[in-house]
Parts: sequence; structure tokens; C-alpha cells
Amino acid sequence: MSQIEQGKSIVTTSIRRFSDFQGWAPRYCPLCYQADRDRYGEAYWHVEHQISLAKICTEHRCRLVKSNIDPTHLSYAFFPLDAIKTVESPCTDTLDLEYELSSILFSYQLLPLEYGVTIGYNNLAIALANMGYEVIQKYSEHTILDAQRLYRDMVDLFGKALVTQAFGYEKSIPMINRLCKWEMRSPERFALLQCFSHITQEAFFGPELASSWKAKLSGYQDTQVIYSRKQIACEMGVTVAQLDTLVQKYGIQIRWQDEERKEDRPHKITFTLNDIEMDLFKRVMREKGYKYGAHFAREIILDQIKKEHSCC
Ligand SMILES: [Zn+2]
Repeated sequence: MSQIEQGKSIVTTSIRRFSDFQGWAPRYCPLCYQADRDRYGEAYWHVEHQISLAKICTEHRCRLVKSNIDPTHLSYAFFPLDAIKTVESPCTDTLDLEYELSSILFSYQLLPLEYGVTIGYNNLAIALANMGYEVIQKYSEHTILDAQRLYRDMVDLFGKALVTQAFGYEKSIPMINRLCKWEMRSPERFALLQCFSHITQEAFFGPELASSWKAKLSGYQDTQVIYSRKQIACEMGVTVAQLDTLVQKYGIQIRWQDEERKEDRPHKITFTLNDIEMDLFKRVMREKGYKYGAHFAREIILDQIKKEHSCC
């Protein structure tokens, strides 16, 4: 709000851009129409029914009906909804996704004023990153998404018409990352991305969400197991270079197997076990969270020696 006062705010994208003005006309819900008449004696236009990407009345879960008003007449003529002939029966054949998107768009109108840009992070971007859309980049403090794949997956989910209406054609794909850096204010686009990621309003505008990369890496940090970079990279489905970037980004300390050079440990001990001993060895190794027998044997032998001979 203070930015708006100072005239520094990034302008909210006009809703006009999202409307198909050739085919646009004011809309209403046939059930709200009837309910308003019963309650107030007259039906009226609901503001929330005019949001262009919202197709459903969330109160009655039915499809909004387009009136036959010529929108070019709206600037000089008054059209009471009561004077419009309503359809006989409402269409309740709706998709859950359409309902969810309409609900998000309606609820944006009711958000408290303090909801807005979150400094230093964008939870929508983090949620999408956690869905696997992050591009791991070394030099960006922002969450960067694979916008092209995201755009295509949104087209698969919402259909080309809706995605094109909100985002334009594929050439405008970089816009997705601008949104995620808060460089654009665009409620309809945010709503579409929010619907795609299924995060709630509270999560979107709340405290910074945990990154799933960070959570995964912390898991490796907290065990006694010594891993190689290649092993973790493989388990996480990233390259070794990407793993290094992530480790640095999230400040995770992991004891890497690769860092313990062979020349520091030139000696090798070999011993044999029978079946019963081997079963026991494997069971305890798994219980302790070790993945490799050699790591486990080394740690417990050295540990035992240190315990029994405190001079070491
Ligand atoms: Zn309704």
C-alpha cells in the first residue's frame, strides 16, 4: 500500500487483457438470480461473476451464464439483471478444476490488504519447484522454473484456450519466471499457477515454504552414513554439479566419501563371517542407517576401540 502511495508500485495487469472482448458480455448465476429475487425482491449483477477466468458460481457450483447484452452499450446504458431473461435450469456439469480456479479467483477479492509480495521468496515458485519444475542455477537467488515444461503441462491440464487467455502464446513463457520474482502483478496468472500447484492462499502469502531439495539434503546430513557425491546425485536425480550448487545454496554440510582420499588410508582389513553372523551384521547395519558394509564395519570397530581405550 505504501508503494502505491508513493507511486512506485508495479501496476496490476488490466483485467481487460484477459477478457475475450469479442465474445464477452456480463454474466450471472441463475441460482443467485433466483435467490436474490427471493431475498431482496430483485436480482443484481455480482462483481465476482465478472472475473474473466472464473466460469463457475462457487456458491451454487453451477456454470455462469453469459447475458445477451452488447458490451459496447454498457458505457451509456443501464441493464438491470432483473430485466434479463434467465435460463430455465442451471448447468451443474462442472469440473473440479474449474471450481477450484473460480474459488481462488473469488477469494483474491477477499484477501486482507497486508497480503502481498513476500520479501526474498515467492512460495508459489517454491511450491512449483517442489513439484519438480525447478531449474538448478548457480547464480540466481530466485527460484527459477522450467517455464516451458510448466506452460505445456498447464496446457495439458487446463486446455490451450484458458492458458493462452492468461499467458498468451508460447513466446511469452519467460513471463512465468518474472511472476515468480514478483516482477509482475497479475492475479489471474497467479490464480492459474496456484490452482496448478494446489497451494492455499495462506501458504502462498505465508512464511517461506520449505524447499524439498533442502529437506532431502538435510536427510543426508543427519545420518552417519558417508556418501559419495555421485550416489546422492543419482538418488536425487540431479547431476553432481547441480548437487554442489544445491549444497552451497542451502548451506548443508555432508561428509563426502570422495573427500576421504585413499592415500590417507592405505591399510585394509579383511575378515570372514558365517551365515548367522552375516545376517546379524546386515540387520544392524540397516537399523543404523548404513548403506555399505565397509562403512559400517569401520565406524563400529573404531568406535569400540575408542570406547575401550579412552587414551586413544
Ligand atoms: Zn450462484
